[in-house]
Amino acid sequence: MEKKPLYHFHPGSTVLSFGSVGCNMGCSFCQNAHLSKNGDPRLLVLEASPGKIAELALNRNCRAVAFTYNEPVVWAEYAVDAALACRAAGLRTVVVSSGYLAEKKRAWFFGAMDAANIDLKGFSDAFYEKEIDARLEPVKETLRFIARETDCWLELTTLIIPTLNDDPDTLRKMGDWIVAALGPEVPLHLSAFRPAHRRTDLPPTPPETLFHARAIAQDCGLRHVYTGNVADPAGQSTYCPQCRQCVVLRDGYRIEEYHIDEESCCRFCGQTVAGRFDE
Ligand code: SF4
Repeated sequence: MEKKPLYHFHPGSTVLSFGSVGCNMGCSFCQNAHLSKNGDPRLLVLEASPGKIAELALNRNCRAVAFTYNEPVVWAEYAVDAALACRAAGLRTVVVSSGYLAEKKRAWFFGAMDAANIDLKGFSDAFYEKEIDARLEPVKETLRFIARETDCWLELTTLIIPTLNDDPDTLRKMGDWIVAALGPEVPLHLSAFRPAHRRTDLPPTPPETLFHARAIAQDCGLRHVYTGNVADPAGQSTYCPQCRQCVVLRDGYRIEEYHIDEESCCRFCGQTVAGRFDE
């Protein structure tokens, strides 16, 4: 589950990840272009009915199924059918998406999902228009909708790209907006960019840039801000918002220590930790 990344949704549990090809976004920096830009149906080599997905997950001792890799919104009907089959089989459902879908479909789509990691790719209209060929406002509307009107657990990811979306003022505006619109408990994952697709002209994100971005988001009031795609156990562990003790110690995708009880409370001070947790 940490790999999605979802750090506050049943940490350490096993999830079967499913993806396809195609995307409704045009990110110049796409990290999955071999899938998102590929319309070759020969890639779709496996038959995967919704029931078969659930069966495969159960056979592999998975607790959840994730719809991910490319953009699940472009095969939303299938994702919802598969999610409902998974729920009927007792499995949890997870989606990793850019959140760019029509308003009237949001309730239907996210109503079938137990958790979502949504990309908030930057925080300016100009960036969304120039680098993604999309608009920021519909993504903000999706995030508000999930946070306020569904039971779907929400986490956010921002890929920090040198010179494109790492401006400190813009990051501060983004942090302030998340706190005000979604609440300070929404986990934010700040991930390092690797040169890819049409953005091989840019360098990888220096770890210091990520650390600085994390500090800005924390300064805005966000309680759970994580780094990604870098070696940083301290920036990838979960801390109690009250006593600041480490309640989930991570090393990469592995959990080394776990101090959250069956009621989602910190075992050191009893404070509730936002999320969905197993004992
Ligand atoms: S939304 Fe994701 S998969 Fe689609 S183009 Fe952008 S980075 Fe690639």
